[in-house]
Amino acid sequence: MTASIIDGKAVAARLRASLAERVAHLPFRPGLRVVRVGDDPASGVYVRNKDRAAAAAGFDSATLQLPADTDEDTLVDLVAELNTDPVVDGILVQLPLPPQIRQDAVIAAIDPAKDVDGFHPLNAGRLAMGAPLHRPALVPCTPKGVMHLLREAGARLPGARAVVLGRSQIVGRPMLQLLLAADCSVTVLHSRSRDLAAECRRAEILVAAVGRPELVRGDWIGEGAVVIDVGINRLPEGRLVGDVAFAEARERAAAITPVPGGVGPMTIACLLENTLEAALARRGAAG
Ligand code: NAD
Repeated sequence: MTASIIDGKAVAARLRASLAERVAHLPFRPGLRVVRVGDDPASGVYVRNKDRAAAAAGFDSATLQLPADTDEDTLVDLVAELNTDPVVDGILVQLPLPPQIRQDAVIAAIDPAKDVDGFHPLNAGRLAMGAPLHRPALVPCTPKGVMHLLREAGARLPGARAVVLGRSQIVGRPMLQLLLAADCSVTVLHSRSRDLAAECRRAEILVAAVGRPELVRGDWIGEGAVVIDVGINRLPEGRLVGDVAFAEARERAAAITPVPGGVGPMTIACLLENTLEAALARRGAAG
């Protein structure tokens, strides 16, 4: 079997276009503020891409740049201002933060209704509770993007055996919750798990988010599985690879995401989707 490629770039472009269409019909522009402390070059590219995508989709987006030596109180005060600013619907504080700032304290300071990264404990808690309809959660962007890709790939989710490799707060854990909410039977594997290969081989849906270049080999993949590779790893020679050995896995999977061009582009598109959802919920407008 040679897997079909799940084209995240194309799916993300379609999602951004549909968001732009919805925004064009609103009486306001959803407002997104990205706060960046210091100038880590890797996150710089990411922040510029966010700004470009947001502007192209008709959002009112701006990046607020603070110096690398900013203290926690100053950042929390800025977040408090954005919380009360009526034109701001979504706040994203770019992580990681410099060591003098406690990440948890800043995330907890964000109004959960504007927490478009979905990292606030209230949103994480609502997601873990199954996000009751009267209290929907803002969901972390990368796992939300994975769910879009699974649906695009035509994966049958109810009852499917899903394996998530990695248990981080930003990917693995919310991924578990979203797959569970979609009625999958989910196993989460991590750095202390045993028999990774055998566990992965049983998966009908495999989501890898470990940050270890090509950890998942071809013979870890069950015949006909749908494989979503969240990992982005730069090899010493400069090439980007995922957590899955792509060429090997492609021989066994039914569908697989490439790196780059798979999950990566979905993250920004889902950030815009979250910002629109937050704007509609907060302003009481109909989509
Ligand atoms: P993390 O380092 O916070 O978590 C990694 C997880 O993998 C941990 O739970 C750990 O237990 C597990 N792990 C580590 N080594 C392992 C091993 N040998 N066997 C089994 N489990 C192991 O990483 P993260 O933030 O979740 O990111 C994971 C990967 O996804 C990274 O490559 C990151 O760059 C990428 N990522 C991509 C996007 C995107 O937009 N596409 C977004 C976030 C993260």
